[in-house]
Amino acid sequence: MDSAIHSVDTYPLKGRKVLLRLDLNVPISGKGENRKIDDDTRIREALPTIKYCLEKGAKLILCSHLGRPDGKRNPEFSLEPVAKHLAAALDTEVLLSDDCVGDGVHQIIHHSKERVILLENLRFYPEEEANDPEFSRELARLADLYITDAFGTAHRKHASTYGVPSIMSEAGAGFLIKKELDYLSRLIENPPHPFVLVTGGSKVTDKLKAIDNLLNFVDKIVVGGAMAYAFLAAEGKNIGVSKCEKEGVAAAAQILAKAKSRKVEILLPVDHQIVFPEKDANFTSPSRIDDIPAGAMALDIGDRTIKKFSDAIGSARTIFWNGPMGFFEKEQFLAGTKAIAHAIAKNDGIKVAGGGDTLSAIAVCGEEAGFNLLSTGGGASLKFLEGRGLPGIEVLKGKGAPVKTMYNIEGDFS
Ligand code: ADP
Ligand code: MG
Repeated sequence: MDSAIHSVDTYPLKGRKVLLRLDLNVPISGKGENRKIDDDTRIREALPTIKYCLEKGAKLILCSHLGRPDGKRNPEFSLEPVAKHLAAALDTEVLLSDDCVGDGVHQIIHHSKERVILLENLRFYPEEEANDPEFSRELARLADLYITDAFGTAHRKHASTYGVPSIMSEAGAGFLIKKELDYLSRLIENPPHPFVLVTGGSKVTDKLKAIDNLLNFVDKIVVGGAMAYAFLAAEGKNIGVSKCEKEGVAAAAQILAKAKSRKVEILLPVDHQIVFPEKDANFTSPSRIDDIPAGAMALDIGDRTIKKFSDAIGSARTIFWNGPMGFFEKEQFLAGTKAIAHAIAKNDGIKVAGGGDTLSAIAVCGEEAGFNLLSTGGGASLKFLEGRGLPGIEVLKGKGAPVKTMYNIEGDFS
């Protein structure tokens, strides 16, 4: 079977209706009339595919989820602010359809002069998350072809991410997914060596499966952030009252053992920025120390660690970074994350970063331009790196291949 994924630019679009699944799940604050978008990154990331389809003459039926309305209509989760924002960004009218399926939507699609229609929040329907076949058929009937650019939801087997493309013969990926896959797949298919995984953040258990699979490809793993204390605890070191999940220590021990058998070097912090929360509740006077004493909480890596980690990063040809090096949200614990962001950015190999907090840390440090890919995927990028494929991507494989007709000379007419 053809396992290629067709990208949007391989399809004829003129005069055709495209159902475009996007991840427009942006953070919104305020209530009622005052709901406002706090960060429009996801909307901006969706624009290239939307603009391309419009330029090529398609009629667009956009769809997305927003938050967790749990299968019920709820105005607090309406996509209305998104429709307004999109209209301004595209400088064109965007019609918001109250329904996702049914006669009303067909009327709108057939009779409206607007070329961009946005369906209301898919998760107003319990059928969406249940991947209901009838709901999928109804959505599929709205358009001639299906394109997805919703990388952040590609790990979900929902009606709009999986059910619809599995029944439509023409289905493909938009430019955002194409960019994500171009770089993420290089990490697990012949990455240039040395490949250094830089990991940190808060939880080992969330990232265990991805690290486990990456152990097959990497040469070194640099561990910072709260995650490092699970590893230090697994090695029997004192971690004071530093943040560490119980299950994380066992997970870390498992990674240490597998790394040893695969000859993957694991680099842990050798010094720390600590505070004594009992005496210094606001964390105002941090100090640098090699070994964490009782009662101390480590909130950033120290200078010697920065040097050790930066040296490993400097010699890498492939780098994947997920997880900040410390409590970077507070200025006094930003230094470790900032130095590591800079060391990665100035490396001239392949540099990919993923994770919501990691991306905001990179933005705080002003190092965005130094990365080949800032993955918008969050959970989806880690799932992809677990190596078992994402349902919303797998379902696109082999779609859109030329259909044999009676005029096809290779056809069998007997
Ligand atoms: P991402 O969203 O990029 O996957 P995580 O959510 O795993 O990253 O971790 C980010 C969080 O980890 C941040 O809020 C950061 O403050 C926290 N963190 C990192 N290091 C420490 C530490 N030493 N102690 C407490 N929290 C930490
Ligand atoms: Mg996070």
